[in-house]
Amino acid sequence: MKFLPITYAEVQERGWSEVDVVLVTADAYVDHPSFGHAVIARLMEHHGFKVAILPQPNWRDDLRDFKKFGKPKHFFAISSGMDSMVNHYTAAKRLRSNDAYTPGGSTGFRPDYASYVYAKILKDLFPDTPIISGGLESSLRRFTHYDYWQDSLKPSILAEAPIDLLVYGMGEKPLKEIIRLLQRGVPFSSLTTIPQTAYLADLESIKPHKKWEDLILLSHEQCASSKQKQLQNFKKIERETNKMFPMRLIQGVQDKAVVVNPPYPPLSSEELDETYEYPYMRTPHPKYKKRGDIPAYEMIKHSINIHRGCFGGCSFCAINAHQGKFVVSRSSKSVLKELEQVTQLPSFTGTITDLGGPSANTYKMQGFDLNLCAKCTRPSCLFPEICKNLNTNHQDLLELYEQVQKHPKVKHLFIGSGVRYDILLQNTLDQDILKSHKAYTKALIQNHVSGRLKVAPEHTSDAILKLIRKPSFSLFYQFKTLFEKESAAVNKNQQIIPYFISSLPGSTEKEMAQLALETKSLGFKLEQVQDFTPTPMNMATEMFYAEMNEQGKPLFVAKTPLEKKNQRRFFFWYLPENKAWIKRSLEKLKLVDIANSLLQKNTPPIHNHHKKKTRRNPPQ
Ligand code: SF4
Repeated sequence: MKFLPITYAEVQERGWSEVDVVLVTADAYVDHPSFGHAVIARLMEHHGFKVAILPQPNWRDDLRDFKKFGKPKHFFAISSGMDSMVNHYTAAKRLRSNDAYTPGGSTGFRPDYASYVYAKILKDLFPDTPIISGGLESSLRRFTHYDYWQDSLKPSILAEAPIDLLVYGMGEKPLKEIIRLLQRGVPFSSLTTIPQTAYLADLESIKPHKKWEDLILLSHEQCASSKQKQLQNFKKIERETNKMFPMRLIQGVQDKAVVVNPPYPPLSSEELDETYEYPYMRTPHPKYKKRGDIPAYEMIKHSINIHRGCFGGCSFCAINAHQGKFVVSRSSKSVLKELEQVTQLPSFTGTITDLGGPSANTYKMQGFDLNLCAKCTRPSCLFPEICKNLNTNHQDLLELYEQVQKHPKVKHLFIGSGVRYDILLQNTLDQDILKSHKAYTKALIQNHVSGRLKVAPEHTSDAILKLIRKPSFSLFYQFKTLFEKESAAVNKNQQIIPYFISSLPGSTEKEMAQLALETKSLGFKLEQVQDFTPTPMNMATEMFYAEMNEQGKPLFVAKTPLEKKNQRRFFFWYLPENKAWIKRSLEKLKLVDIANSLLQKNTPPIHNHHKKKTRRNPPQ
């Protein structure tokens, strides 16, 4: 086993006179299945392609890096890694001081809008070589979208960057098909009917497809002419994205059209297992040794990803738009095989830091009747209430935890992914499911918390929670009670850490003050907080842009840097520098009672509406 070549000398060492594909990535090369570029490169290698990797090329100077492998036989592939703008800037649009995907956490190794920049350079240098782009940055910019960083509505990336084919979502299946067709000699320009890909076409060249229905979206220009239209258009896109069998979506832009083919159906477990079978080195490339650790790798090196996809449908999150709404889970055999590899790492001292995915406890969950799911258009299987067709049994996950704990080298199994506690508090008549919820809650809290359990209520206001499709804050009260009870039963002094987001669409200073007071009364001094960052392809971003709710009704949105900063200040009511400002602001809002309670030394516990409004019962 060895790393894939990253220099021309390494290409020559392998006896290759040319490579089939050069994969350009904005992240450092980490040969590990948690890193998209490694998965894609290893997949192409497995299917017979000669692949070279160009990680974090120098785009500023002489462009030598881009030329070092020469012209690949088939195509250039671009994988942006994480979104370059989120990587570079905070929600306040300030430059970040570190990059978790670069050795030493150093900054300056990727351009803003990396996929656009790489594509333009490559097309200038190699005009005849096709470019395929995938990864979050391209995938989530496949339609007209609001760009927070430029505060403008931008067309699909396909209209602005010379990308010949865009692969959206998780790229394994479309790439396998691309490889298969190219190996059969199909010209690249004919690759227009591969599911889960998108391309820019002349209007007259778009032919009906015998299996796919078409949905013509509003054009980019129509969306740009009215915020209401953009909102309505996105609602259609979201509805299709959450279907098991969406239509082909076509969006005009100038005199052309972006054609987004429907996705492949969700992977089977066996297909997902294959992704973890490739011969990864499981470490960063040794060339980075002297430049320091790669923080993102350090964070995941002793953890295992067990599933992908999310049916939560939170309106501020784009996981479902990228990974899909339907959860796909690995077999326990595949997970245990990877566990063996992790335990053999020299750095492993007995602690698995996470066994998770987009949510910790949605492993193997899907509809009882998949025929119903195939017709379903709900964005969330959990909101406004948990779908009766969703099988939320935790038994498979519990058994997996037990198997992992049985490994002789595993001393601790911790869960680092966020837990959907609303599922654990589900009110259902199914006794097996109730039993599994109770057993999971107990096992999680008693055995798998590394001192602090992170959960994400996101806000305390039920009105805001409804806008973002999250359950009532009353459930947090219930779960906190369970957490304390189960922790006390095993004599563990551990904490529950709630995550909150400021400046969510609809959230005013009044709601932030109430959030501060409610969490203070629960005994929290918040540290883990976020400021809402609008990113492409989610409903909350569309609400932020349009200043409307999903139904098109006007909505307050904290937009300016000052409004956003002020919302954040309420989280930190306990800092001396914020106290006078909070007092003044709340006096202006005629909320003197809240100001007094928030700023006085001891705040009595709130016996509030949340405790009375309980909708779901905790496990008995
Ligand atoms: S039918 Fe229920 S479980 Fe299936 S996709 Fe729809 S909401 Fe989810």
